[in-house]
Amino acid sequence: MTPVDVVEPTPSGIVAEADERRGLDELFRDLRTGPDGLTGRDATRRLISYGPNSLPAGGGPRYLRELLKQFTQPLAVLLLMAAALAWIGHTPTLAIAVLAVVVLNAAFAFVQEVQAERAVDALAAFLPATARVQRDGVRVDVAATDVVPGDLLVVTEGDRICADARIVEGDLQVDLSALNGESLPTARSASPGLVTGPLLEARNLVFSGTNCTGGEATATVVRTGASTELGRIAVLSRRGGTTPSPLELQVRRVTWLIAAVAVGVGIVFVPVGVAAGLGWAAAITFSIGLIVANVPEGLLPTITLALAAGVRELARSGAVVKRLSAVEALGSVSVICTDKTGTLTENRMRVTAVTFTGTELLAPDFSEANRGADGERLRRLARSAAACTSAEAPTTAHPQGSGDPTELALLTLAGDLGVGVDSDARKRTRRAVQRFDSHLHRMSTIDEGPDGLVLHTKGAPESVLSCCSQALDTDGSLRAFDADLRSALQATLDRWASRGLRVLAIARRPLSEEEADRPREELESGLVLLGLVGMVDPPRPGVSGAVEQAHRAGVRIHVVTGDYGPTAAEIARQVGIGTAASRILTGEDVDRLGDAALDAVLDTNSEIVFARSSPESKLRICEALQARGQVVAMTGDGVNDAPALRHADVGVAMGRSGTDVAREAATLVLTDDDFTTIVTAIAAGRRVFDNVRKFILYIFAHAVPELVPFLVFALSGGAVPLPLTVLQILAIDLGTETLPALALGREPAEPGLMTRPPRSRTSGVVDRRLLLRAWLLLGTTSGVLVMAAYFLVLHRAGWNPGDATGVGTPLHQAYLEATTTTFVGIVACQIGTAFAARTDRASLFAIGLRSNPLLLWGIAFEIAFTAAVVYLPWLQDVFGTSSLSLDQVAVILPFPLVVWGLDELHRLLRRRRHPVFDVPLTAPRTLTTSRRNS
Ligand code: ADP
Ligand code: MG
Repeated sequence: MTPVDVVEPTPSGIVAEADERRGLDELFRDLRTGPDGLTGRDATRRLISYGPNSLPAGGGPRYLRELLKQFTQPLAVLLLMAAALAWIGHTPTLAIAVLAVVVLNAAFAFVQEVQAERAVDALAAFLPATARVQRDGVRVDVAATDVVPGDLLVVTEGDRICADARIVEGDLQVDLSALNGESLPTARSASPGLVTGPLLEARNLVFSGTNCTGGEATATVVRTGASTELGRIAVLSRRGGTTPSPLELQVRRVTWLIAAVAVGVGIVFVPVGVAAGLGWAAAITFSIGLIVANVPEGLLPTITLALAAGVRELARSGAVVKRLSAVEALGSVSVICTDKTGTLTENRMRVTAVTFTGTELLAPDFSEANRGADGERLRRLARSAAACTSAEAPTTAHPQGSGDPTELALLTLAGDLGVGVDSDARKRTRRAVQRFDSHLHRMSTIDEGPDGLVLHTKGAPESVLSCCSQALDTDGSLRAFDADLRSALQATLDRWASRGLRVLAIARRPLSEEEADRPREELESGLVLLGLVGMVDPPRPGVSGAVEQAHRAGVRIHVVTGDYGPTAAEIARQVGIGTAASRILTGEDVDRLGDAALDAVLDTNSEIVFARSSPESKLRICEALQARGQVVAMTGDGVNDAPALRHADVGVAMGRSGTDVAREAATLVLTDDDFTTIVTAIAAGRRVFDNVRKFILYIFAHAVPELVPFLVFALSGGAVPLPLTVLQILAIDLGTETLPALALGREPAEPGLMTRPPRSRTSGVVDRRLLLRAWLLLGTTSGVLVMAAYFLVLHRAGWNPGDATGVGTPLHQAYLEATTTTFVGIVACQIGTAFAARTDRASLFAIGLRSNPLLLWGIAFEIAFTAAVVYLPWLQDVFGTSSLSLDQVAVILPFPLVVWGLDELHRLLRRRRHPVFDVPLTAPRTLTTSRRNS
């Protein structure tokens, strides 16, 4: 699509277009604003007149459409055809009953889908979009919906731009792909004059819905909400539907398979039934019943609902997933690749050590040193470090400050030593910034000092030291940066790193005016080293517990960080990741390894620290792991991490510290930035998947006792009268089965959930073991019990095979009681099945009989409904039932116990045969450690 296609000028568009392309002064005048933005009161007033900065959501008639959709789904159509057939076949009761099934199911599915949708929509509230604007002269973060035309927007790397705006100052790289499909970032900068050509190509405009991939700028908001370019496109093309998850696809396939079998059996029944002496009408009626009962039409919506419940619960515990299908992927995660800073650690840094040439100072002594001989050097270092920042220092108004915690630590150090800078002063003297680069691991600023321009550089020691040619010596003189100094500093660095300190080198050099415009490589050379600073960033409480839990669950954890290897290794050790002999691989090591070698490294069962890694190596690690069949959760926070986040099975972004771009690319956003939450989310994913299997087991199991009566009738050639009527089958399908199935979707976690290895990527939700257990164990047991009860009732009444049981015959009353027994027997077996299905492996006693109150309520309803069908005279007429005597009920009473008991025994045997699979994390046998820079 070319931009020209998208920007279809509408009358209102032309006016706006003319506005935003004028000279800046005219634009300011039109918008009644200026280069300093609006006042808070003006902004409030504008919000009322322009409306919120958001796109209108669809709704209203959509609900009606969705409800209708339920009736046009293939399974519903199938059932409607059956109803029509029943009507034509002069069995109106059946027709109405089938219709009732369809309507009830449609209503159920509709309610469930709306709920699921609500759950996903509600997630937006957990991740409010914010924007930084200047109001009353100060930069504040406001909700993106509160941005109004005239606002001065501050855009920095990683931001999602929330309104159409004209750049006032600065340069940006923007990714316009949301608007024109082109993924190459384009440069945008302030240009005062008129710009011609297509709107999207105007070099001084940025647009809502696009991402900033680099740079920093301020821009005046021109249009918001639906009048933005994005708003116009959104009106043109309504958002497409969501793609179904693998789980849903699988279940859909299984549903169709079963539906096909049901229809097949139903069709075969007609001739068999007629041959066995049933009239045509009766045979067709019964076959319709069979089809209706066995088509699992409620399965899919139930699954959607179970996933949605999982999503809602996850959001409450700090993990916001973007798609229902992510819950499923989470459940099978086998490797976590995590950041160190902020995820494993608290991201609250504090400088605790400083070294110059020869001297080393530790935290409690800073203020003393500040007054002593080292004072001048210390202040100089702190001043340069503070100059080379873009974070906002903590003030009394904002005690937290804002920005990169590493920089905040440096600003705090400078403040403590009495050489702090406030951001206005810093802005006034700043000439240029070379931003922090995730490959170079350093940043520089050019500032105006009292003696002319100065370049300040800070960054990873390996990176900054290689740019230094001199160092500031004890007496304030300069000394050559020689091998002795280098090895002394390396020794300090290693000592600090082994304590887990994050180390930065600080350097500076004077610049002449001409030099200021040189390229980065030339600027950052010949520097004077001022010293190294070491800062602590302690592990978050709870992380080591979560790591242990992940290990027990067979999930491996690799640390992928931009930090120094030994530092990262020490933090990893503190939280229990890896072993002392774990490998440390730097980004360069990874780049050097061929694909096969990387695979070999990842194949060992050890956990690896990937240090000084670049966004590209993240992507490679992710791909390599996936190629080994692993399911990868990968964290990331920067713009460059987006490809790895998209590629991972579960891309994890940080809700607090990450960029908008990373959050957008991720499938899971941690609102608390905490590693622990990833593990919690994995547990929740496993549980949801387990529960889906639980109700599939339950629903599948009852097909057998419904089919067995028909088989007995057919195989006996009619000598045995039909043990179950059509409407009784429907009563089970409609009245008794649904609620317990729903309740099974809410089962609490089963013991062993997080002590078993991850589910393999290829294993389906429905497997052979599940089918055998459903049909052979639970189903067949139920079928046998139910038929035994049926024959017992008939036998007691003096029935012999072949005896007539039709209306008017002496055995008719006994026949009614017998079919009622079958019906109640199936319900009783279902109750046993429900309790059995609650666990896959554990004993029911391990989870407690009452730990799922919803299920108990569902079963209570089931019993009440059944009692009504059996004992209320008018329902007896509809369902062809008859009151059962106490001794008949007594026969059925033990059924649940038998069904559940046999399954309990089966699980006991299974536990005996496969004792709990604990996956110990084996230490690597070869102690290959590759440490660079030594
Ligand atoms: P991580 O977040 O994984 O710890 P980063 O990529 O943020 O790693 O940082 C990598 C290294 O770059 C750090 O160890 C530090 O030496 C350096 N560094 C980090 N932040 C800054 C910054 N704001 N300015 C200069 N250097 C930095
Ligand atoms: Mg970082």
